[in-house]
Amino acid sequence: MNVRTRLKDLVALPSTGHDDPRPILDYVAAAGRDLGAKVTPVPNGDRPAVLLSWGRPRLLFSGHLDTVPMAGTWTSRTGAIVGGRMYGRGTTDMKAGCAAMLVAAERGRGVGDFGILYTTDEETHMHGAEAAVARGLLAATTFVIVGEPTSLRPNLGQKGILQLEVTTTGRSGHASMPWSGSNAIAGMGRLLAALRPFDGATQRRAATLTASPDMIAGGVAMNVIADRCVLSLDVRYSPRLTEAKAKARLEGALKKAQVPYALEVIHRLPPVASRPTAETRRLKTLTRRPFGFCDFGTEAACFAPLGAAFLVLGPGEPHHCHITDESVELAQVERAVTLYEAALTTRS
Ligand SMILES: [Zn+2]
Repeated sequence: MNVRTRLKDLVALPSTGHDDPRPILDYVAAAGRDLGAKVTPVPNGDRPAVLLSWGRPRLLFSGHLDTVPMAGTWTSRTGAIVGGRMYGRGTTDMKAGCAAMLVAAERGRGVGDFGILYTTDEETHMHGAEAAVARGLLAATTFVIVGEPTSLRPNLGQKGILQLEVTTTGRSGHASMPWSGSNAIAGMGRLLAALRPFDGATQRRAATLTASPDMIAGGVAMNVIADRCVLSLDVRYSPRLTEAKAKARLEGALKKAQVPYALEVIHRLPPVASRPTAETRRLKTLTRRPFGFCDFGTEAACFAPLGAAFLVLGPGEPHHCHITDESVELAQVERAVTLYEAALTTRS
């Protein structure tokens, strides 16, 4: 089957976190069975995964079938093709990659010893991929290709995540006499200004360290000087940094504002990076692109216990993820099939 049809079928099956994941899992399982794969369900609460395998999966393709909900007002119809792009939620993130794997398997399945793991909880918990690892289903795996959208750039790693809460504390008083108290919101304003160098606007894309202020809360009433302000800060740092170094750089900038604050780590996910191997280098050569790393987190982190080499390499532009009128360039999806097929057939 051609990759357009596969993609159209996958995109037509709704698979947000609110939808029953069974219809789309049934679809890929049936497709795998038709192609001679062994189909192994991976239990994971109401968000199961499925492993399609042809022999023992030494090479694993990893894809997630779940998508984020369709927010905003869409002007395009799901599955419509306009100007060489297919539209619909999940086209880029990441049903294009999922479809390309299936078609590459169809073409290269004679080689054997590979598998495709399809999960349905990547956008939330990523427990499905962890479950496949914990159950020993991937014990033979030495190389993982995560098909998330990278514009077909071969990414050897992904940034770490550090989610922080920054709190400023002031002293309340009557708002008619601002001098009588100390305003926590004004203090936060100075801290926010100090974070400007990390907003990505003044740096090239894929900056080493970014900090995005995403939620803020403070104050109690219109006429009361705010005595507390809390900022949620999403920090991403490259595998070249450690969490401690990333934090030290941010704190160095915050200190310059000369505003007292408290910092609490809410969530952390360390960066992961793969060693370059003969297989990753060969694929890199085929993409004619340099190795890079992803700004966003992927299931590559879940496969770390395997000690396998990995690449995050898939069709679609990362900035098309999660947007209204999401779409993917079909020529890129076709090229992904060729690359995945090459990964299958040129193994050493
Ligand atoms: Zn994704």
